[in-house]
Amino acid sequence: TVPKFVIGNWKMQARHEYGLELARGVAQGLRDNPPPSHLHTILCPPFTQLAGVHSELDEIGLPNEQLALGAQDCYPAASGPFTGDISPQMIKALGASYVILGHSERRQNHGETDAVIRQKVKAATAAGVTPIVCIGEHLAERNEGRAASVLASQIEGSLTRGFRGIVAYEPVWAIGSGITPSHEELQRKLTLIRALLPMRLMTDDIRVPVLYGGSVTSVQAPSIMSIEAVDGVLVGSASLEAQSFLDIITAAA
Ligand code: 13P
Repeated sequence: TVPKFVIGNWKMQARHEYGLELARGVAQGLRDNPPPSHLHTILCPPFTQLAGVHSELDEIGLPNEQLALGAQDCYPAASGPFTGDISPQMIKALGASYVILGHSERRQNHGETDAVIRQKVKAATAAGVTPIVCIGEHLAERNEGRAASVLASQIEGSLTRGFRGIVAYEPVWAIGSGITPSHEELQRKLTLIRALLPMRLMTDDIRVPVLYGGSVTSVQAPSIMSIEAVDGVLVGSASLEAQSFLDIITAAA
C-alpha cells in the first residue's frame, strides 16, 4: 500500500498550553483508535512548542512512523552567526523529523524565493530532517491560465536534484478561504505535479508523496483522499482541534 500522510500545520495559532493539550489529545486518539500502519500523522507546532509537544508524544509512546513531529521552517545552514534563526539540526535535537518549507505564508511574508527554499531543502536533508515543500499558484495566476508554468518553475526552483521528501500542493486561493478545488481540477493539478517531479527526483521509480492543502476539513477529506494522485493532506485550521483532526485522519485511512 502507498503510504498516506495527514499533517497538521498549527501555524502561529495555538497558545502554549493549548498546543500541548492538543498534541496529547491527538496522540491519545491515535492510541485508542489506531489507524492502519500506512497512515502517517505529523504534527507541526511552532518552534517554541516543539520540545513540549515532543515530551507529550513521548509520554503516549506511539512509534514515530505513526505520529511524528515537524517544524514549520528552518534556516538553510547548520549553525552560524544568524540572530533569531533556527537550524535543522536544532529542530532535530528537539525531536522533529520533518520540516515544512516554502509555505506560501513564508513566501509572502518573508520574501522566500525558490532559491532560498532549495537551500533550506538541502540543509534539512543534510541534517536528516525530511522536507515537506509547499507549492501552489495564486488566484490571478490560475485565472490567467498560468498555474502549470508556476508549478513547473516552483518545482524546478525549490526542489534539489535527487529530492527525497514530500510535496504539498497548496493553491494560495484555497488556504483559509473555505474554498477547495473541484475534484476534477485537483486530479488534473496533481497529475501534472507528478509528471513534473522526475526532472528533480532524477528517477521515475520513486513515488514522492504529493499532498493537497487548503481548507481541508473532515467533510471534504474523504472526497479529496479518493483522488488516486493524492497521498494525503496538509491541514491548517482543522488541525487545531483534536477531534476534527482525528476525523480527518479517519477519513484519510
Ligand atoms: P487551512 O487548512 O487553514 O486552509 O490552511 C492550509 C494550510 O496553509 C496548511 O499549510
